[in-house]
Amino acid sequence: MKLRWGHLTMLQSFQGPSEDRFLVSDTFQYIPLEDTLKCLLHLPEVRKEIEISHVSRDSNYRDICDGSVFKCHPLFMTQCKAIQIIAYFDEVEVCNPLGSSSKKHKLGCMFFTIGNFRPHLRSRLKNIFLISVVRSPLVRKHGMNAFLQPFVKNMLSLCNDGITVKVNGLECQYKVALLAILADNLGAHAIGGFKESMSFARRICRSCMATTEQIQRDFWELNFVLRTPREHERQVSSLSGTDSAQNSIEYGINRKSVLDDIPNFSVVKNLPHDIMHDLLEGVIPYEMKLLLQYLVEKKYITARTLNQRLKSFNFGYSELSDKPSDLDENIFKGNNDKKIRQSASKMWLLAIYLPLLIGDLVPQDCEQWELFSLLLKITSIAASWVIDRETIAYLSVIVEEHHYMFKKLYPHFTIIPKMHYMLHYSKQIQAFGPLTCTWTMRHESKLNLLSYSQNLFMVYFRSESVLSISHYTLCQFVY
Ligand SMILES: [Zn+2]
Repeated sequence: MKLRWGHLTMLQSFQGPSEDRFLVSDTFQYIPLEDTLKCLLHLPEVRKEIEISHVSRDSNYRDICDGSVFKCHPLFMTQCKAIQIIAYFDEVEVCNPLGSSSKKHKLGCMFFTIGNFRPHLRSRLKNIFLISVVRSPLVRKHGMNAFLQPFVKNMLSLCNDGITVKVNGLECQYKVALLAILADNLGAHAIGGFKESMSFARRICRSCMATTEQIQRDFWELNFVLRTPREHERQVSSLSGTDSAQNSIEYGINRKSVLDDIPNFSVVKNLPHDIMHDLLEGVIPYEMKLLLQYLVEKKYITARTLNQRLKSFNFGYSELSDKPSDLDENIFKGNNDKKIRQSASKMWLLAIYLPLLIGDLVPQDCEQWELFSLLLKITSIAASWVIDRETIAYLSVIVEEHHYMFKKLYPHFTIIPKMHYMLHYSKQIQAFGPLTCTWTMRHESKLNLLSYSQNLFMVYFRSESVLSISHYTLCQFVY
């Protein structure tokens, strides 16, 4: 049997001094979207899932199709059976991240899921499909736009011509559109053409024009100038003039992204914030560390007590695999750069069980404890699968309350960019439905699974080819 799984796409650039330039070609793996979609559309259960709408009939938000991005999209307004593409981009390290070859073997990967699938089906790893794999050094050499170009070209053709499949002798046509691309902040800024370093950039947000100074004092989204596709286009065009370097810093933009060529897609609207990276790997460990340091300093708890209680705590059977690891005792000492290092799922468990672990040792009037409880309340709303309109409005209020309280209780610590992104959550729910519909938790699992299979092969030569074949092999077991 002849197997066809992806093809090599060329990345080309000129190298050498200007008078003696020569063309250099490199390749990366690309699996055309229409090939994957055609295979899937031959399955009756996939067609059924695509054709049956699951838009909520009440005013609650349950899925991405309840958000304004879907409801106001010109294609989905006229053809509710059109295929919704939700893409995902991230980089993965396939060898020892502390080793000397770590950056050399890093891979950039792109996946997609079908937004028409209900959320519980979208979260299954078998329903996350590979689009492309590239060695990260090649992205740095040729630029992100060169890597994204085949995907953009593919989306343009699918938006305009759709995809035709023969079912029981009849030809069925499906139009396709891109709803969102999910990524961590670094990845989203890289593919969107924004400044990638959040620590040094003047504008740190892809949703608004916030500066590092403004996020320290304003905690209400309406106080910020939101980015719009039209204004972004104007800012991007100013990068080619004489003041390009100055404008690049002023607007927080490095370049125009080719993603903006996709119809009804804009990098300022369709790259949603991800609660896994913002909250579970950002704000929660940041604030928990400050809380634990305070509690130790006041002698309410000791590092030893917390670790002992953590060890003996009876986690449920389904939670055992995500049981939080012991905390490094250096974390509890003030003025150090040590961070709480747990995976996102372990961090989530540690945060929700912290009141059961040490709540009895903390005085009732402890404001720092109250602040952390407020953060847990925000996280529980952010991680909800169904949200009503009143809760969306309430979320903005408690985010603002949380940030004001944080500045009051920890005046020497800064509001980090991930805390600012929380201001956009309410608007994001209205645009894309519950924040769990656009988090990257399951995509990260898929990426980890593939990098694990890559490590099994222990092959780093042409690692992008091995990874795409690994993905294909894994798919054989599930379809
Ligand atoms: Zn912002």
